[in-house]
Amino acid sequence: MKIVYIDMDDTLCDFKGAFLKALRVNPAIQYPQSQYRFFANLQPIEGAIETVRDLIASGEYDPHILSAPSIRNPLSYAEKREWVEVHIGYDFCDKLILCAQKGLLKGHLLIDDNIKGKGQDLFEGELIQFRSGAYPDWAAVRNRLGI
Ligand SMILES: [Mg+2]
Repeated sequence: MKIVYIDMDDTLCDFKGAFLKALRVNPAIQYPQSQYRFFANLQPIEGAIETVRDLIASGEYDPHILSAPSIRNPLSYAEKREWVEVHIGYDFCDKLILCAQKGLLKGHLLIDDNIKGKGQDLFEGELIQFRSGAYPDWAAVRNRLGI
């Protein structure tokens, strides 16, 4: 089975949208991602959850979530785990990896909106940049994966 790592913020869940909305609502809070429940309340990006479910069911791929936690907000560790249970399921929480150096992980594919900053450039497998010209949305990623 091919090991696929999937990023969370702005790949599975809409970090940027929540960030900008929080700044509009309360401009005094400069780092809304430091607030209680920020990570737990992020909305899934269209097509993301269905893709994870289909990868699990494929028998061809072994999907994991690979997310760099917000070290300034220790709650992000717990809230990311909660998010996975709420949106994908309790059993999949075993597949959540919180790591700030993504190049350390071994696998075939990494789907991430960033190509560097958290070791993405050191990942030895194929890097699929989510929201890039080639992969603007989950439909394009699914097409690449053949699911
Ligand atoms: Mg990201």
